[in-house]
Amino acid sequence: MKIRFLGAVKGVTGSNHLIEAGGKNIMLDCGMYQGKDEDLNEKDFVINPAEIDCLLLSHSHIDHSGRIPLLVKEGFKGNIYCSKPTYDLCQIMLVDSAHIQETEAEWTNKKAMRSGKELVEPIYTQEDALASLKYFKPVLNGQIININENIAVKFSDAGHILGSSIIELWIKDEEDTIKLVYSGDLGMREKPILNDPARIESADFLIMEATYGNRVHENIEKRAEELINIILKTVRRGGSVIIPSFAVGRTQELIYELNKYYDSHINEIGTKENELKKIPVYIDSPLAIKATEVFKRNSHAFDEEAKNYIMKGDNPLYFKNLHYIQSAEESKALNFSNEPKIIITASGMCEAGRIRHHLKHNLWRKEASVVFVGYQAEGTLGRRLLDGEKTVKLFGEDIAVKAEIYNVEGFSGHADKPALLNWLGDFKEKPGKVFIVHGEKEAKEEFAQAVREKFGIETIIPEYNVVYDIRKKDLVKVLVLESEQEKLRDRQIQELLMEVEDLKKAFERALANTEEYLKLEDVNYEDIKKLNNNIKSLENEIMNLTMISAK
Ligand SMILES: [Zn+2]
Repeated sequence: MKIRFLGAVKGVTGSNHLIEAGGKNIMLDCGMYQGKDEDLNEKDFVINPAEIDCLLLSHSHIDHSGRIPLLVKEGFKGNIYCSKPTYDLCQIMLVDSAHIQETEAEWTNKKAMRSGKELVEPIYTQEDALASLKYFKPVLNGQIININENIAVKFSDAGHILGSSIIELWIKDEEDTIKLVYSGDLGMREKPILNDPARIESADFLIMEATYGNRVHENIEKRAEELINIILKTVRRGGSVIIPSFAVGRTQELIYELNKYYDSHINEIGTKENELKKIPVYIDSPLAIKATEVFKRNSHAFDEEAKNYIMKGDNPLYFKNLHYIQSAEESKALNFSNEPKIIITASGMCEAGRIRHHLKHNLWRKEASVVFVGYQAEGTLGRRLLDGEKTVKLFGEDIAVKAEIYNVEGFSGHADKPALLNWLGDFKEKPGKVFIVHGEKEAKEEFAQAVREKFGIETIIPEYNVVYDIRKKDLVKVLVLESEQEKLRDRQIQELLMEVEDLKKAFERALANTEEYLKLEDVNYEDIKKLNNNIKSLENEIMNLTMISAK
């Protein structure tokens, strides 16, 4: 059985892995790249989409599902298996993503026409997105799906976003049956609305995310409190609170948490609760409105607490001062008044969408606050604001960053290091090997080390498009594809050249120091002996180097 990792290898976006086994090509996720790797979205698929037999989709987030319309457009005709809520969410998210592609292409083309440059096509259109939906086959959690006589698959809760799944695969390949588990994105336990990530019995091999493999989320229990305090502080000084949030998932979780907070403090007269009730909350996103509807339709997938609200007749996704904003005009009108308010809008990483005009109108105000509640990928505007950038460009204009910038980590959709280790610790039979994906370098490395130390499990941080040939409990054989071999060679050369440069300087320094030392009057005999040996072995190494380069 062979696995190739074609996305979420260098960073967290573009999740896409390929399994060749049991006579089938199975794809795990087909996500879009965001932030610094965005250009990769236009790259061809490594394997002809027509040759892929089926796609297993862990969840609806665009960095896991966003290239599906392109996959179908380029010839994929298999089934796309996913949970029912994931299918429902993809119906709105893929069309929305297509709309963004179309708008961006239109914008680029307007400029291209003026400068005489070549016109571009959107990566895919809304029509392509709609066409891809007919390949979706929603399945139930716990249902065993037989792809063919050699491959069976099961989905269970991952607790990351509504419908998010951990995927288990049993693959019969040359006599052995190998159990492979794909974690998808894992949520924290006790996340609002969602069930906790499911416990998995066993795995031979595990592909696991490590977004926060080197972090501990602080103040999880206090996340609502923390947010409320920021809101009150900001509103009291006359500012608005801008919350960039994924329209799907995080926004509904925020509404739920605010509703819960209001409910539990209902009898506290004259407290901050009363003050809060006067502050209007705007959900400024047509996508978020549609997503909230999908959430309501899928309340069967909610956790016990959320179901209890519904049983009591309370709508957990609504409270009194909550307003949904549909049209662009209404959205713009929000900035006409200086009345303090809370605006929750997309995109979550500030790369596109209405968030950008709210930032333009508020970033420069020192009384305003911007509150991040989700992961900010490298290279995105959100990440730059978090990193403390003092001026940013929005709509061609330089905007000074004077507003207070907060990061409330407790709302994160991703499990932190202890939670990831706990989930792995819950396996009754631990995986033989763990492939670590979906994280920045430091996160993956620190997490890999923790897994080795805590469980004694071998870890692999896979490289892009390298083929890992795996056998039951057997060593992973690595086959580097020719095209990749060349890139690997180039990279190694670059690294060696850099080392040569460093060494040259270090060498010069060491020789100069030695020279100086030998000229002193009181050099002791022991040191002379040591230096003699060292210089002889250096001469030897230099001779070896010369022999290689003289060839
Ligand atoms: Zn996700």
